[in-house]
Amino acid sequence: MTLPPGWPEKGIHTWTAPQDIGQTAFRCPYCSRDVGSYLGYQTTMHGNRSPIFKVYLCGYCSGATFFDHEGRQWPGARPGEAVASVPPTVAELYEEVRSCMSVNAYTAAVLASRKLLMNTAVAKGAEPNLGFVAYVDHLAASGYIPPDAKPWVDHIRTKANEATHEIPQVAAADAEELVALVEMLMKLVYELPAKVNARVAKAESGEVAPAEPPDVER
Ligand SMILES: [Zn+2]
Repeated sequence: MTLPPGWPEKGIHTWTAPQDIGQTAFRCPYCSRDVGSYLGYQTTMHGNRSPIFKVYLCGYCSGATFFDHEGRQWPGARPGEAVASVPPTVAELYEEVRSCMSVNAYTAAVLASRKLLMNTAVAKGAEPNLGFVAYVDHLAASGYIPPDAKPWVDHIRTKANEATHEIPQVAAADAEELVALVEMLMKLVYELPAKVNARVAKAESGEVAPAEPPDVER
């Protein structure tokens, strides 16, 4: 289970007297698991007993999530997944991007995503002080962006050019596209090589044999 930084481990604390407020399912904004819960707290309308606001408690991480009478959720679910083996400064930025998306802060998410991609490109050999598009091109030319993703990257590049010297008005769909690209790149640049290196190191130490490549019929 992934807990937010600094949170106490599950099981060492409990909420006081939570009640059965009806079963529901949602993606927890804190641990990013799809959870079902019936425990929490609620307000009731004066004069009748229908609930107005509900607060559900996550059974995994004990985080509390608020729902209004229209079923809207705060904080919202954070898009994407946590990515392993990312350098701390980049990881902080990536988590900030996910948090921005969960509160509909799309402009902030896009600006932080661009900064993250620029940092990653420089870490992978790009010159400092270039533009966002130059950094995306560097990542693509260096093989970090798969060829099949090129139309997607071209679209993001076009969007970036539209808003180069102004504070962009960012639509939710555009932000989601860029954040999805960021997540894919974090996995390709950091998580996957770290997994492969760990597996090779284990194989070389005799702990486990490397996986056989699948048979391919020609
Ligand atoms: Zn949770």
